[in-house]
Amino acid sequence: MLHRHKHDMTTIREQLRRQVRRSMAAVFATWLVFAGIGVVGIGQGLNPVFAFGTFALFMGAVLYATLFIKCPRCGFKLAQGSMGLAFGEPGRGNKRSINFCAHCGVSFDERL
Ligand SMILES: [Zn+2]
Repeated sequence: MLHRHKHDMTTIREQLRRQVRRSMAAVFATWLVFAGIGVVGIGQGLNPVFAFGTFALFMGAVLYATLFIKCPRCGFKLAQGSMGLAFGEPGRGNKRSINFCAHCGVSFDERL
C-alpha cells in the first residue's frame, strides 16, 4: 500500500474502466430509484413532483459520470468516449472502444 510493486501495471484504460464502472453503478442505482419510486409510485398515486425528484437524481448521476471521467494526462472530458468504453458507439453497430485520448492522443494502453 505504501510502495508500488514492480508488477503494478495499471494502464490508463484500466483506470478509466474502473471509473466508468463506478459511475455506471451510480447511474444504475439512481435509475432503479427512479423506476421503482418514480414510475411505479405514480401508478400508486404518488405526487409527480416526487417522481421528478428521483429523475433529477438519475440525471445528476449521468451528469456526474459525464464530468467525472477525464483523461488522466490532459484532463479532457472523455464523456462520449467513456460511454463508448462501456457500451460501444450507438448507431455504428459494433462495440468499438476508444484507444486513445481525442485531445492529447495518449494511448490508453500506457501505464499511469
Ligand atoms: Zn488527454
